[in-house]
Amino acid sequence: MTTSWVTEFSRFLWFGGIAALFGLLIGQVLAVLLLYTLAYLGWYFYNLRRMDHWLRKGKKYAPPAASGLWGELFNEIYYLQQRSRKRSKRLVKLLNRFRETTGAMPDGIIILKEQGEIEWWNDSAQALLNLKYPSDVGQRMSNLIRHPSFIAYVNGKSDEPDVTIASPLNDQIKLNIRIIPYGKDQSLVMIRDVTVVQQVEQMRRDFVANISHELRTPLTVMSGFIESLQEEIRDDPQVERALQLMGQQTRRMQQLTEDLMLLSSLENSKNTSRRQVVNVANMLASLKEEAEVLSGERGHTILLEADAEVALRGDPKELDSIFSNLVINAVNYTPKGGAIRIRWYADENGAHFEVHDTGVGIAGHHIPRLTERFYRVDVGRSRATGGSGLGLAIVKHAMQQHRGTLQIDSEVGRGSTFICNFPPDLVVYKKDKDLDETG
Ligand code: ADP
Repeated sequence: MTTSWVTEFSRFLWFGGIAALFGLLIGQVLAVLLLYTLAYLGWYFYNLRRMDHWLRKGKKYAPPAASGLWGELFNEIYYLQQRSRKRSKRLVKLLNRFRETTGAMPDGIIILKEQGEIEWWNDSAQALLNLKYPSDVGQRMSNLIRHPSFIAYVNGKSDEPDVTIASPLNDQIKLNIRIIPYGKDQSLVMIRDVTVVQQVEQMRRDFVANISHELRTPLTVMSGFIESLQEEIRDDPQVERALQLMGQQTRRMQQLTEDLMLLSSLENSKNTSRRQVVNVANMLASLKEEAEVLSGERGHTILLEADAEVALRGDPKELDSIFSNLVINAVNYTPKGGAIRIRWYADENGAHFEVHDTGVGIAGHHIPRLTERFYRVDVGRSRATGGSGLGLAIVKHAMQQHRGTLQIDSEVGRGSTFICNFPPDLVVYKKDKDLDETG
């Protein structure tokens, strides 16, 4: 194109020179040059008109025939047109494929603009939320779903990555909603019908709670009979040993059913724990005594540093469960003569309960799984200590009930530290307290 432009310009100068010579010959240089320039301009307008006509006629027509710079211009435009036509065809195809794919998805998808207004949705989102085109375009999600949990989630007041709520159309249908930011301040909303999953989960919880409850009475009867038999039969060492083992196993089963029932009730209650001001320092003092009894001949050094000024608003039963599970574990997983340090204090981040032991420790890869039900690092050792494998699962759920977190630091052979962090709004300083107190 550059060379054509240079050729064209040289041609213009050449012909201009000839015109000037001719003008000199006839003694009318200016008039001839003016005529020449007008003729040149006319030719340009003629070609411009041809281009305009061609562009207006439509893309399908071949470009007008022309030589030199104009010919090249026509060809270049024609080539660009062809390319952009192919590209838009490809884009339309891609867009249709995207529409078909998202339309076939069982999950609802909504695209939100920078300010959170709805820009686009797929068929499933339309069915799940009864979205209407075009009236709902530009609406905010919080105008369509007014559920308080969803509003808290949208406003970033929830720590969870998603939220499950009853459908605004039918409260029997449960929807799981997740907002994923992408691009420049845009968001993708994924909506999934989790009604069946929730039903199955509820059935599982009910089953565990019911079976534990049903086992409770027979186990109490059995342990009662075992105890009376133990008192009556004292002359046969073999039977005595058998009764002792039966007693031990029955107690284990009782502990297991108690733990399972507690876990089910924690899972079923949604932060509805009975809140009271709990005197944690008192609670820990009695726990320390229990730990010393449990330690027995193992002679652990058990230290307690508890700030008596710091109380906590919470459920006393659940808090006792958290503290005792962690302290009992520290005793059980620390060899003879080891040390256990229990701390309770508050700072600007909230209240903290720490149990540090110089016990066997836990390898790093086990730590993320410790709060799973029945997860044990060393099954043999855990059985020997009488552990049900549910202790840390209970701690995790009870902490969630108090909007707290559980932090575990451990090193094999050196010991472990379990830290429970409670949010600042649950902390009550004794001097401010005017409520009943438990613990
Ligand atoms: P368990 O009833 O078996 O003690 P938990 O849920 O309380 O069950 O603990 C899960 C596992 O975590 C235990 O089996 C044990 O291997 C490990 N664990 C818990 N606390 C400690 C600790 N203080 N030191 C070492 N290992 C621990």
